Amino acid sequence: VAKLKRRKRAPRKGVKASRRWKKINRLEAKLQAKVARQRKDWQHKVTSEIARRYDIGVTEKLNVKNMTRKAKGKGKKRKAGLNKSILSVGFATLNRLLTYKIEQKGGLVLFLPTQTLKPSQRCPKCDAIHKEWADLSNRYHVCPACGFAIERDRGTVMILYNVATNQQPGLGTSLVSLGCFSSTSETRYTGSMKQLGQRKRQKSRRKADGETPPACAVG
Ligand SMILES: [Zn+2]
Repeated sequence: VAKLKRRKRAPRKGVKASRRWKKINRLEAKLQAKVARQRKDWQHKVTSEIARRYDIGVTEKLNVKNMTRKAKGKGKKRKAGLNKSILSVGFATLNRLLTYKIEQKGGLVLFLPTQTLKPSQRCPKCDAIHKEWADLSNRYHVCPACGFAIERDRGTVMILYNVATNQQPGLGTSLVSLGCFSSTSETRYTGSMKQLGQRKRQKSRRKADGETPPACAVG
């Protein structure tokens, strides 16, 4: 459509917009509305499915503003593309929907601080921080310290899961002192996520299911 639109003459001052120009504009608006609708459907589908399967969600406290900050110099184009995709997936909305849906069933969402944890630069196995992993062109991470190798996004989620379940080596076991907070303000605890998970599961009517992990991480 954008291509077609460029071929049509935009109305100038004092000139009536052509019928073809109006038509192409209507078509463009229609398509945009369709994309928005599809995205909304997808967001609801994904969050409903996660909320159905898990009582506890773990996610990052996102700062979309920061994530989509304009890049300068090298990598500018790539960053622009990334910004577009971040905004088009709608992370903030996903987090909001997921939190709402998990809480609806008496569950809980844990938010981990991205800036302290640096989940995408931390090795899930030995906890070493690798600044070079911040370069998003590295899609596959091999830890120079311990040799652990994992796909970037999987590694990130692994960190979130490890932190939430007190299994990340080198990090303390107090989620509060790490700067994590939960979706329910009355849930103040310094204990482990495992205890919390057990407590929560007793509350919910879900059958004990050894195969389902108590928490899921959304990175
Ligand atoms: Zn390592």
